This record gives sequence, structure tokens and C-alpha cells, in this order.
Amino acid sequence: MDDLRELYQETILDHNQSPQNFGRLEFSTHSGDGYNPLCGDKLFLTLEVHDSKVKDIRFDGSGCAISKASASIMTTLVKGKTVSEAEALFDLFHELVTTGKSKTTNLGKLSVMAGVYKYPVRVKCATLAWHTLKNCLSHSNEVAKTE
Ligand code: ZN
Repeated sequence: MDDLRELYQETILDHNQSPQNFGRLEFSTHSGDGYNPLCGDKLFLTLEVHDSKVKDIRFDGSGCAISKASASIMTTLVKGKTVSEAEALFDLFHELVTTGKSKTTNLGKLSVMAGVYKYPVRVKCATLAWHTLKNCLSHSNEVAKTE
């Protein structure tokens, strides 16, 4: 089980214990729920988007270490980015956690999720925050599901 230990490396545990941007924005322009029935991860995102830029973002909810850490990392990466940059990050992240590879060498904080692709069940946990983000940005009020 060394691989699994590797998966729960320090960065993931750090983000799980002290999540960034945790809570809800009082005045949000976009919001949405995410739910991963396989693991029971629940997420609520609020965003403040102005001039096609993500000025602020918060997440709330309960879930496993991977889902929480991924949401925390996602919010730190997306904050301050334009909507199209955020969508490009989604694509980058999705490729990374489903194939373990990426076209980009400079993944920064995302690289901690590179080992996730070996665990299909965990991929759903890791992508939940990103799927919810994508739904929020496209103004969809549906609950984001990982299925
Ligand atoms: Zn989970």
C-alpha cells in the first residue's frame, strides 16, 4: 500500500487540515452544488465573477481528504484567473487525473494530484470540485455529479 501512502502526501494532508478559501461568499454571482455518490463527498461553491474574472471563490461541504484537498487547491489556483483560464485549468487537471500525464510541465500545485489516476474511485473525489466549478461558470444550476 505504499502507492496509496504516496497519494496522501503532505500537500494533500495539509490542504485537508487547513483548507484554503473555506466557507461561503456573502455576495456571489455564481454558485452550485457538487455531489459524488460513490464516496459521499458534498461540495458547495460560491464565486464572485466580474469582467470575466474570478475575483473570489469559496468552497463549503464535507468529504474525504482527497476531495477537500482538491477543492482547496482548485480555489487557490482559480482565484484571480479569467474564466477561460479557469476552464483551461479544468482541462489540464482532468487530463492529469485520468491519464497521469500532462502536456504542461509546469503544473505547480496540481502535480500533487498526479498519482490519483491509479485509483479510479479517487479520481471522482479529486474531480468533484472542478466539475462543480465548470457547472457554476456555465451558469448551470444543476448539481454537478461525477458520473
Ligand atoms: Zn471522496
